[in-house]
Amino acid sequence: MTTTTSGSTSERWLNYVNGQWIEADSGKTISVVNPSTLGEIATVPDSGEAETKAAIEAAHTAFQSWSTLSAYERSDMLMRWYHLLMRHQEDLARTMTAEQGKPLSEAKGEIAYAASFISWYAEEAKRLYGDIIPATSSGKRMFVLRQPVGVVAAITPWNFPAAMITRKVGPALAAGCTCIVKPAEQTPLTALYMAKLAEEAGIPAGVVNIVTGEASVIGDTLFADSRVAKVTFTGSTEVGKHIMRASADTMKKISLELGGHAPVIVLDDADAELAAEQTLLSKFRNAGQTCVCANRIYVQKGIRPAFEKLLADKIRALKVGDGMNPDSAIGPVIDEDGLNKIQKHVSDAVERGATVITGGGRREVPERAGYFFEPTLLTGVDSSMLIMKEETFGPVAPIVEFTDPDDAVRQANDSPYGLASYVFTSNINHAIRLAERLQYGIVGVNDGLPSSAQAPFGGMKESGLGREGGKYGIEEYLEIKYISLGLY
Ligand code: ADP
Repeated sequence: MTTTTSGSTSERWLNYVNGQWIEADSGKTISVVNPSTLGEIATVPDSGEAETKAAIEAAHTAFQSWSTLSAYERSDMLMRWYHLLMRHQEDLARTMTAEQGKPLSEAKGEIAYAASFISWYAEEAKRLYGDIIPATSSGKRMFVLRQPVGVVAAITPWNFPAAMITRKVGPALAAGCTCIVKPAEQTPLTALYMAKLAEEAGIPAGVVNIVTGEASVIGDTLFADSRVAKVTFTGSTEVGKHIMRASADTMKKISLELGGHAPVIVLDDADAELAAEQTLLSKFRNAGQTCVCANRIYVQKGIRPAFEKLLADKIRALKVGDGMNPDSAIGPVIDEDGLNKIQKHVSDAVERGATVITGGGRREVPERAGYFFEPTLLTGVDSSMLIMKEETFGPVAPIVEFTDPDDAVRQANDSPYGLASYVFTSNINHAIRLAERLQYGIVGVNDGLPSSAQAPFGGMKESGLGREGGKYGIEEYLEIKYISLGLY
């Protein structure tokens, strides 16, 4: 899987194509940097058209045999992969923390979460039932089959280097599809490590391929090739729109899980402690770099002082530092652009009248040159501020006070995004009425962490197309085939 470059602690990792570990033809590499230390930890191939075409060819060939295995055979291999992922949980998590920055305990949690998609879909592979439809004529029989769509291109982001891959590859493989994965350039090592374990699990050559390198070149090669039947993508809305356009000529099936700008609504009748604790989890996990992170916290006037104090105390208790340090709750953000965007959101809010309750700026961590930002609480925020319009992707919680819940719902829905939203209330009537009116694919009621392998994850409006997870997630990798049989 890797070769160590002599005289350097940086490792040279390779692409995984057709069961082989390969360099880029050009011999060029790209650097993988630890966002905590800013030191290079590894290089990966800077692949382009040739390697991507080789991966498409491999996945296309492997599809013929993988799709005709029985669901039980595919399920067995997926279960073996699941067990290997869990056996390597600690090492995988260390690789993830080194390239992504999140605290090791969170990285371990992500590996378990990522692996749960493989085991869940290993089971689901065995339940892909068809239908028999009563015909209008006694001389006909009507059957419906569900068949794999074919070769799948999966393009994934850096914030969840393992789970965003298994959430796609798990159902794809279970359905009988083969995959080409292009991981984010910041976090390819976790992906390659997982591929090594897929190989060890006995998943045949060409079924899972990983190509690292220049996103637009790899992407354009995938989008233009008619052998790729489906693109599944998690990332920015901007790139999602590009993928949709670029896939039109070959009419690919598309799943897009894009940006979010999650509102939280805390009603006066909420349990303030629970609301503060769950908002903290939602907002500060992965240093605020998730697409379902609380981004706009609307708090009703009566409960605001208590909620704000509880949240501020919890935020002050979060330790910032290198993810390998067991005390760290907040690691570095991914890169300088990310850091600058967070700072810009805070500065803009303050210029427009917001108050910083805690945090507010970059945090220096001794002997770490990386991109650390203080966990921050802003109050007195209003809709004119940038932070209320764009995803911050950082550890900043902005509080907006409201009096009328209808107004809070209106403000929450006033967004081009529609991924996750949260409601805190102890009144079941308010819970149901608000949940039904929120134009979001996910509503966490008294729950800041609603994602799980068996539930549908995905957004409305410009947050994307399709759902991942649960029985819904595998539909994205299946074609419906109708067979009409005339009897004689
Ligand atoms: P983020 O802002 O989270 O980095 P991006 O949408 O830029 O989100 O990246 C998500 C994934 O999409 C990454 O794997 C990235 O390399 C890839 N990507 C970015 N631009 C393109 C493109 N033009 N074609 C294909 N993939 C792309």
